[in-house]
Amino acid sequence: MTVSSLSAQYINTDSLIMLPGYRDPLTLHEYNSNIESEMLEEFTKENFRTAERISLLGFMLSQFEIPSDGKVISRFGIRSRRMHTGTDIKMNKGDTIYAAFYGTVTRSKYYYGYGNMVALDHGNNIETSYSHLSAFLVELGENVEKGQPVGLAGSTGRATTSHLHFEIREENKPYDPELVYDFANGKVREEIRNITHLAQLLPESSPVHVANNSSAQVIPNSYIVKNGDSLWKISRNFRTSVNTLCMLNNLSENSVLRVGMVLKLQ
Ligand SMILES: [Zn+2]
Repeated sequence: MTVSSLSAQYINTDSLIMLPGYRDPLTLHEYNSNIESEMLEEFTKENFRTAERISLLGFMLSQFEIPSDGKVISRFGIRSRRMHTGTDIKMNKGDTIYAAFYGTVTRSKYYYGYGNMVALDHGNNIETSYSHLSAFLVELGENVEKGQPVGLAGSTGRATTSHLHFEIREENKPYDPELVYDFANGKVREEIRNITHLAQLLPESSPVHVANNSSAQVIPNSYIVKNGDSLWKISRNFRTSVNTLCMLNNLSENSVLRVGMVLKLQ
């Protein structure tokens, strides 16, 4: 990541913040002196200095892991006129589901529709949940480690096949987990490092759910790559797909984009 993409992301080091693993809010300054804490071993002094220049939320999310390996079988969004508030990942019954990050168990019981659900509070108003489980491996109130097994996959609740229904919420509002995760590659997206709120990951263009009419966004023929762009981000902004961009521009999914490069959009 380059310095210029970080320039607008300073945060106040005197503000009190909530961090997983700490009972009380603390300042970044206090946090820095607690950095040796075993629970936060990934937050080394060196990368913490970077964290001070970017958002703490983005930094926290950049350390998330995928809850389980598997293919996305149903995406976030409107499905049969209902809002689908998470991502469905194909699982076999009994597959282990892992905590995305350090957190505290805020739910561990059966809910209508969701079936057996575990929810984790990660601090900074971020919560993840794991539903349709066949078994619970954690209890309400328990503190969990990143990557700790929280349950076994199943099809409890409203589910026709074994799968994980995975949600990410900020202040209880669900966001598309695919904004945060690249499930196909089993990791979080680079873009999240810069954010202070999940809403910043939503496409910048006019609302996606507006019906097709004369006010629909006009897609330009080409686009000049800016700092911080990725094929994924550009494809979302112009409502095309990474595959289409690759095909039009003779790129592969992992090609490096140079700033100033001109991409054909159609
Ligand atoms: Zn689902």
